[in-house]
Amino acid sequence: MINSSESDWFHLDVMDGVFVPNISFGFPIVEQVKKYAQKPLDVHLMIVEPEKYIERFEEAGADIISVHYEACTHLHRTVQQIKSLGIKAGVVLNPHSPVSVLEDVIQDVDLVLIMTVNPGYGGQKFIENSYKKITRLKKMIVEKGSSALIQVDGGVDLTNTRKLVDAGVDVLVIGSFIFKSENPLETIVKLKKA
Ligand code: ZN
Repeated sequence: MINSSESDWFHLDVMDGVFVPNISFGFPIVEQVKKYAQKPLDVHLMIVEPEKYIERFEEAGADIISVHYEACTHLHRTVQQIKSLGIKAGVVLNPHSPVSVLEDVIQDVDLVLIMTVNPGYGGQKFIENSYKKITRLKKMIVEKGSSALIQVDGGVDLTNTRKLVDAGVDVLVIGSFIFKSENPLETIVKLKKA
């Protein structure tokens, strides 16, 4: 269904039960999705010590790997590690982390994911403070001459899509609103037009 939809990427949320209070899936599921997916796999690692597993997620089929700022002691090194595999590297900020912490790494990343809910569960309410963070991040990207895309994840639906894009968002991650709707394909079309 997703292959035939107007969506652009597959976004896979990997949760370890330590970094976030929930467990989702690991390598075997990413490998299986890769077998069928005709679009890029965007793998969001909500795990501690992500640097230990980057190579295995790339082997499993990831085209983009994003790691949390809060989970990386040596973020710059981990970003280089991802890019050395020939894939795109993203950094994720939890709701409490200010965008200013990315000032010295923004030129090295392909994507910044702003969590618009606390990570761990689907179907949560969008955090309104996120707009300010997106505006600040967009300004930083322009000032530093970075080509990083801005992505948001959590609580995105038809009520905030337009406002997010106007604030500078390039990539919308939408789970519950699409998969809990009666006609997911049509919902994706509506979101694209919003
Ligand atoms: Zn995600």
